[in-house]
Amino acid sequence: MGNIVLLDDLTINKIAAGEVIERPANVVKELVENSIDAGAKNIEIEIKKGGKSFIRISDNGKGISKDDMELSVERHATSKIKKVEDLENTYTMGFRGEALASIAAISILTIISKTNESLNGNKLICEGGDIKEFNECASSKGTTITVENLFFNTPVRYKFLKQDSTEFRYIKDMVQKIAMANLDVSIKLINDGKAVFKSNGNGKLEDIIFQLYGKEISQNLVNVNYEEDNIKITGMVGNTLIARDSRKDQIIFLNKRNIRNQLLLNSADEAFKAGIGIGKYGFFILNLEMSANYYDVNVHPTKTEVRFKEEEKIYKILYRALKNAMLNREFLGNNEIDNNKDEYIKSEYNFSTNSFIKEEESKVEDNQEIINRDFRRNVNYKYLGISFRTFITAEIDNDIYLIDQHAAHERLLYEQIKANYKQTKTNNTQMLLIPDIVNLTNKEIQFIKEHIEFFNNTGFDIELFGDNSVKVMGVPDISYKYSSKNIFLDILDEMVNNERSTIKDVEERFIATVACKAAVKANMDLKKEEVDWLINDLLILKNPYTCPHGRPTTIKISKEELVKKFS
Ligand code: ADP
Ligand code: MG
Repeated sequence: MGNIVLLDDLTINKIAAGEVIERPANVVKELVENSIDAGAKNIEIEIKKGGKSFIRISDNGKGISKDDMELSVERHATSKIKKVEDLENTYTMGFRGEALASIAAISILTIISKTNESLNGNKLICEGGDIKEFNECASSKGTTITVENLFFNTPVRYKFLKQDSTEFRYIKDMVQKIAMANLDVSIKLINDGKAVFKSNGNGKLEDIIFQLYGKEISQNLVNVNYEEDNIKITGMVGNTLIARDSRKDQIIFLNKRNIRNQLLLNSADEAFKAGIGIGKYGFFILNLEMSANYYDVNVHPTKTEVRFKEEEKIYKILYRALKNAMLNREFLGNNEIDNNKDEYIKSEYNFSTNSFIKEEESKVEDNQEIINRDFRRNVNYKYLGISFRTFITAEIDNDIYLIDQHAAHERLLYEQIKANYKQTKTNNTQMLLIPDIVNLTNKEIQFIKEHIEFFNNTGFDIELFGDNSVKVMGVPDISYKYSSKNIFLDILDEMVNNERSTIKDVEERFIATVACKAAVKANMDLKKEEVDWLINDLLILKNPYTCPHGRPTTIKISKEELVKKFS
């Protein structure tokens, strides 16, 4: 008895229109996904001439029974669903029953397959959609499908193919993605007789990333492992040092299916905000696992598009998964993980989604409590001095750390200002003994009028004074003593004249600018005790890794690296 059935017309009509095989990579994708759907743990892919002349996929999956062989190349014949409602709990890659039929129609297709139950295997040969041969043959358990002379009867499509090497590159990219999503399956790719890629099916994403991206990338990644509301997110995320210029290395799988989804990308951007460089995109490879009734993949034939039923929930959970991972990193040699960072992530999220609620006076004291009991990393460092009047240099165990005094202080102030944002004046303003009267341009006055609340929220106490002046009575109360008049003018100047910052959100940029202008600069001499304060304050921060613009605050040079240089 076979398993494959022909879908009825009603179901066919409800399933998004069929896929088009445009190039060899589409064929490889469909065939490998069929192998995975068949439970294969070993898949070998052999390609010749960019897939134009020869594609062969062998698997050790459950095989196709004799009764199903002919049906498998029929359109709308599938063993995976019977009616459209089944999609609600279907986790297979395929479900339209069209791929084999489409491929058979435009190539010479050979299927050799054997199930566990049967003694013999069966072989079916199809040319341009017509069955030419169907008989028993010797075979081991599993399925081998060979596709030769792709597009032999559709010369126009053949003409649009690119060079063999380019077509092979599409195949390789695709196979590697499938391998990253199916870590328990060993996949081997052979091109013109040469093994090009092999995953070992040991479940470790790290191993594949190391193979594909190398040591430098691997060293700057952390694990993502997060679960909330029956949604599980696993994978790896990169730090600022490997942030990219494009979204090319932002890979998302949903139940092992590679998808593109703007909602998820937006959520990731938000999580990376103020953590990676100007105009950069975070590096991540993630697998989202959730019940199939949380989303709809029946939107587009390539199934790369999905629609989530509860978008806000998914957005939030991905944000938290990424933030959590990004805050789980070594800092100044300390690997301890703060289990208490949920509150911080929550407030960051609220801030960025503008549901930030002003803390009530009574709650401030509670907060104080929390801060006192707060997590703090312990680090024993030997202070070596300040290099180039810029980099605080410290020795910790077998490493030398350089701390960029400006970037580090900037992050510190940024966190402080954010924590105090929208507090009452008594809590975040340092009143000046003698108010400053500052003359401004029309553009600057305009900016102040439009954004007066930013100034108030960060702790400025200012008032328009005549037509083109402002009276500055108070400035943000932050630890380091800066020149009050300069900081006010510097911030205005940056906000009004300098738009190069990529922190797009004006409010976020304003806070980052206040932090930047108030922070100690390079070439400012710090005393030993000021360095100690700075390092100790950094050790309390949940996110001490980068300045708000994404530049790293610290860089490590190991003894090993130095010894190598001297050898
Ligand atoms: P779909 O994957 O949408 O069901 P396909 O046209 O890709 O449609 O495949 C048709 C059917 O052939 C599948 O439902 C499955 O039963 C069978 N099949 C195809 N490839 C394999 C394979 N490698 N191992 C076992 N069965 C397979
Ligand atoms: Mg399929």
